[in-house]
Amino acid sequence: MRHVTTSLFELFKIGPGPSSSHTIAPMRAGRDFLRRCRALPREALHLAERFEVRLLGSLSATGQGHGTDRAVIGGLLDYCPEHCPADLLSRLTRPEEPHRVDLGGREIPLQPGDIVFGAIHHDHPYANTMIFRLMGGEKILLEQEYYSVGGGFLQWKGWVAPETGNPEHPYSTMLDLRRALHRTGLPLHELILQNEQAVTGSSMPEVVEGLDRLVDVMLAAVDNGLNTEGVLPGSIGLNRKGPTLLLRACEKGIRDRFLLELNAYAVAAAEENATGHCVVTAPTAGASGVLPSVIKVMLDGFKLPRMAVRRGLMAAAAVGFLCKHNASIAGAEVGCQGEVGVASSMAAAMLAYGFGHDFRVAENAAEIALEHHLGLTCDPVEGLVQIPCIERNAMGAVKAYNAYLIAAAELPAHHVVDLDRAIHAMAETGRDMNTKYKETSRGGLAVSMVNC
Ligand code: SF4
Repeated sequence: MRHVTTSLFELFKIGPGPSSSHTIAPMRAGRDFLRRCRALPREALHLAERFEVRLLGSLSATGQGHGTDRAVIGGLLDYCPEHCPADLLSRLTRPEEPHRVDLGGREIPLQPGDIVFGAIHHDHPYANTMIFRLMGGEKILLEQEYYSVGGGFLQWKGWVAPETGNPEHPYSTMLDLRRALHRTGLPLHELILQNEQAVTGSSMPEVVEGLDRLVDVMLAAVDNGLNTEGVLPGSIGLNRKGPTLLLRACEKGIRDRFLLELNAYAVAAAEENATGHCVVTAPTAGASGVLPSVIKVMLDGFKLPRMAVRRGLMAAAAVGFLCKHNASIAGAEVGCQGEVGVASSMAAAMLAYGFGHDFRVAENAAEIALEHHLGLTCDPVEGLVQIPCIERNAMGAVKAYNAYLIAAAELPAHHVVDLDRAIHAMAETGRDMNTKYKETSRGGLAVSMVNC
C-alpha cells in the first residue's frame, strides 16, 4: 500500500478563497499552462490567437460563484496563489479591457468569454476537470487536461507523483501510525516532523518558520474578518456577522462568552474566505475558518505558547493526511464531510494534542468530530461559499471543541471506534452520495432556497 508522503505545506496552503478546488488549483493550472505555452516552438507561438478553457463538473456548476473563471485568468496572468495580492480576485471582476497574456515576446488577449462553463456530468477521471487550449484560428496549438482533486491539489493527464524522499516512519493508516509511535517511542509531532524533513529535505528551522507563517496568515484572516463589516460579495447580499458576534461576546456579564468568541473567530475567517481574500487551506479554503478559530482560542484565550500550536498543527496534519490518503478532502467527491468534517476532526486533534494529551486522546477526539459529520452534504446556495459554509465553519469549530472535551474525559482504551473506521465510513458514504450533493448547487439548501 502507498505510504503518506504529503507535506505539511501541501496540506496547508496559502492562497485566495473562496474554494481551494475552485480557486487555488485552477490558478495553479492556469500558471502551469502558461509555462507550457511559453515553451512552445516560436512557429507555434506565432500562430497563437486566443485561449479556450473549459471547466467541467462542479467547477462548472459552482465555478462562477466560487470565482473559478477569475482564478484561471489570474493563473494565465502568471499569478501564483501563495504570493498574489490579497484582493486579486475582486480586482479581476468584470474587466473592461481584455487582459493581455505575455507568451514570452508575444502577447495575446484573454477575456472572460474565453472561459466556458461546460458539462457537469462527464467521463473524465476526476469530477473537477479543466481543459486548457491555446488556439490559432480553429487549430489547437496546445491542449492540456487538468484535475482539481481537492484542497488545492492539482494533477493533470499523464501526471505522475513527483519524486520525494521516503518518509522516515512510513504509514498509510492510523493503525500503522499508532504502531510506528509505539515502536519508536516518539511523540506524534516528532514523528511528523521527521517525516516532513525526510520527504521534503527541509531543515527543522525551515519547517518551524513555515508553520509560524501559516499561523500568522490564519490569525490575520480572523482579525481582518473581525474588523470588517458590511455585505459579502455576490448575489445573496449576506451581511458579515463576525464583528457582531465578537461584540456580543464582549458584553458585560454575558454567560456564553467562550462559545461566542469561538463562533466569532470561525465566522470571521470564513467571511474573509468568502470575500476571496487569502486564507490557509485546512484542509480546504471552504473549511478554512475552523482551525484558525481554535488556534486563536488556544493562543489568546488559554494563553498557550506558540510551541503548543505548532505541535497541535502537526497532530491536525496527521489527521488531514490520513483523510486525504484514504478518503478525500474534496467536497466535489465526498460532500462537506470531507471539508468541514475533516477540518473539525483536525481541529479536535489539535486541541487535544496542543493541550498536552497524548496521541490516543488526539486520535479519539479526531474520530468523534469526524463521526458526527458523516453524511454531511455540500449544497452551497447560489454557488457561493457563504450559505451554509460560513456558519458551518463555526459549527465545525464548536464540534471540534466538544469532541476534544469528550475524548479527554474518557479513558483512551475505552473508546470503541477508531479513526481508520470513521475515515473508511466517510469514503463509503461519499461514494454513495448523489452527485447533486457534491458541490454542484443542485440539491439540498441550494435548491430549497431557490424554490422558496
Ligand atoms: S458546503 Fe462545505 S464543502 Fe460545500 S462549498 Fe460549503 S464549505 Fe465547501
